[in-house]
Amino acid sequence: MSFKRIKGQDKAIEILKEDLRQSRLGQGYLFAGPQGIGKKLVAKTLAKALNCQNETLDSCDSCASCLKIEKEQHPDVYIINASAPLDAGYEEAKSEGGPSTAIKIGHIRRLQKEISLRPYEARVKVFIIEDAHNLTAAASNALLKILEEPPANSLIILVSAKPALLFKTIISRCRVIKFYPLERKALQEILEKDYALEDNPAHFLAYFCEGRLGQALALKDTDIFSRKNSFIDTVTLPGRVDLESLSIKNRQEARDYLNILAGWFRDIYLVKTGASHLELVNLDKKSELLKLMPCFSFMDLDEIFSGIRDALVYLEQNINIRLLLSNLREEINYRLTLGQSRAA
Ligand SMILES: [Zn+2]
Repeated sequence: MSFKRIKGQDKAIEILKEDLRQSRLGQGYLFAGPQGIGKKLVAKTLAKALNCQNETLDSCDSCASCLKIEKEQHPDVYIINASAPLDAGYEEAKSEGGPSTAIKIGHIRRLQKEISLRPYEARVKVFIIEDAHNLTAAASNALLKILEEPPANSLIILVSAKPALLFKTIISRCRVIKFYPLERKALQEILEKDYALEDNPAHFLAYFCEGRLGQALALKDTDIFSRKNSFIDTVTLPGRVDLESLSIKNRQEARDYLNILAGWFRDIYLVKTGASHLELVNLDKKSELLKLMPCFSFMDLDEIFSGIRDALVYLEQNINIRLLLSNLREEINYRLTLGQSRAA
């Protein structure tokens, strides 16, 4: 995708285009900002713009170079992440421990080898390091040495949603470009106008994804909108649907469910404070929210939020998700029943 077609990152793109105009590129970049808002997309577009055969400050998306970069098959553009190949001859890499998400010294040794060679066909060799906060200490030190004296005709772009975890020395060697989510209203408009979503699902996705366009696009063709409503019924209306009937394929889906639940109780909280209904994640279920509002005190809601927070933490420790949800439902039902008898 060309710079002019990327939505919501005008500020970051303007800085990069100015750098391109002034031929100021050369050192490393750090693209920092939340997951799912287009950092990698912009990094790939920068690689295209640097090597495009038709455009000077952008990607044409049709020349051989742009097409190869798009498919991540360009011999001079490297995407480095935990699953990228290691330098074959580097024994230390094999013995280096760390989690499966770690970017190891073997990855950086390979980068080091490739960056010292002339480009095969590109004007500028580009190395995009995804989730750069996953660099091990040894890999970080090796990368630092490369960033101190970057070879000509090469560019290293670090992409990270958790830049605070990077070595400060690495950050100080990079030009930091900050990426921000869209205003939720603006994201809703994009989803309606450019992707023909109806207003209820568009509103839900814009608010649920907190303005992150990439995440909203990844979810828009799934059944998340109908799933979230049946899930809310399952957990918040006692006896309505059996928890066993929920299909939960993986941890990400479980995380989605917990976030849906957090959004639901956040909405009840907002309704209680008298906030504008347009701020509700579940605007489509406004009448149910208004009905439930008197049943939960602020203290109840605080307890439920901490239950959801705990469940998110337990989830990372591989605890049985059905058990977690079932405990949460017990907690919610207990508070709901108390609230209903209070309200009666
Ligand atoms: Zn091109």
